[in-house]
Amino acid sequence: MNNGKDARSYKAQKVIDRMGQKLSRQIVGSLTACVHCGMCTDSCHYVLANPGDPTYAPAYKADMIRKLFKHHYDWTGKYFPNWVKAGSVYTDQELEELKDTVFGKCTNCRRCTINCPMGVDLATFNRMARGLLCHVGIMPEGVEYVAKEQWEIGNQMGVLKEDFIGTIEWQEEELQEEMQDPTAKIPIDKMNADIVYTVNPREVKHDPRSILDAAKIFYMAGENYTMPSEGWDMTNFGLFNGDDDLGGAVAGRVYDNVRELKGKKLVMSECGHGYRSTRCEGPNWAKQDIEFEAESSVITMLRYIKEGKIKVDKTKNPGSFTFHDSCNNARSCGLTEEPRELLSLVVEDFREMYPNRAENYCCTGGGGAMSMSEYKARRLKSGKVKAEQLTATGAETVVTSCHNCVDGLTDIIGHYNVGMNVTQLVNLVANALVVDDRINENTTKYAAELATLG
Ligand code: SF4
Ligand code: SF4
Repeated sequence: MNNGKDARSYKAQKVIDRMGQKLSRQIVGSLTACVHCGMCTDSCHYVLANPGDPTYAPAYKADMIRKLFKHHYDWTGKYFPNWVKAGSVYTDQELEELKDTVFGKCTNCRRCTINCPMGVDLATFNRMARGLLCHVGIMPEGVEYVAKEQWEIGNQMGVLKEDFIGTIEWQEEELQEEMQDPTAKIPIDKMNADIVYTVNPREVKHDPRSILDAAKIFYMAGENYTMPSEGWDMTNFGLFNGDDDLGGAVAGRVYDNVRELKGKKLVMSECGHGYRSTRCEGPNWAKQDIEFEAESSVITMLRYIKEGKIKVDKTKNPGSFTFHDSCNNARSCGLTEEPRELLSLVVEDFREMYPNRAENYCCTGGGGAMSMSEYKARRLKSGKVKAEQLTATGAETVVTSCHNCVDGLTDIIGHYNVGMNVTQLVNLVANALVVDDRINENTTKYAAELATLG
């Protein structure tokens, strides 16, 4: 059936063929379950910002992918094509239109999913559709660029190994100075460490302060940890571009390095999609079981305080704070209570944002949106509800456990003149550390050693 069109472009045919290989039970369940009740419509931040435009409705966007499934892979499309709205794609232009929807009108945040009584998970098959398009080279330029960096250089920001090591050594010097301890280390590639600490490349390139803050916490806790010189990027662009092969290669690289170093536990710094990819999706993409524990640094920091390994003083973080849940942490991984517990231990004035936890709205930077500059105006417009959420808290600072959210929120705060700072838990925990006794001890010890040397 071709609706009177005789030829299908090479790329359109490849997309259709590959769809057949990617249809899992989970995806087919979501593709068939929608009853078009519309209950998900107002859960989407794009809809709230564009109330008169039906093309932003989750069910409309889903139907652009669903029609292909119905036409080519579902019996209902064969016998009742008009009734089930089956349809195909024939031209590269139609694929470009699909690209505009799956990359430019959805951040795969999954808020519509939790508001769907049928359990339709649009984000899962939207990701599949992204993967089909990427397979034939149809994707935003930024997506192509970042994926290439992660394939070829091993991290999303193209940080070379010598630059990574140089940054860690620089932060080690800062640590020694702040702690007045010339022996303080940020160990690289240490064997048999209890923790292998992995980070987001944004920290190495734009925010090394977060690496230093984590190092201070590890130092004060007396942790036996290391950072790997390879496989240190715990983010994964495969989650965003729908490429399971990239997802498996990136996650596998992290797992392999933990094994090579004989590390006991993998700890990931604060990054929503990295946490979801490395801890939850990665083993499937990489087709391997991981025999070691993998945890978010939020849980590690909370444990240190509870076990008395570090002491914190919440008066060191004056001002008012609210918390933004990353979609991947909260909706996809259930990491909602630990960050709040930790935050309440390191600040005095915590104000909840509404709605929150799994019902929180996307920062607008999800799904790799920060790399798609062509959709920036659309993305900022969709942040209206987030700006309203932030403003309603009256807080001076918004805290989040995700580097992507830091960037998304910073953009929204600037665009809507919200007047708020953005920070992460690691920065607040490091700032609240009670270090004076330790520094005095170090100063006395090293002054005595210097005196001995004459
Ligand atoms: S709520 Fe679920 S069933 Fe209803 S339109 Fe949305 S996706 Fe379809
Ligand atoms: S996954 Fe998020 S952005 Fe995409 S349609 Fe659903 S609510 Fe909207």
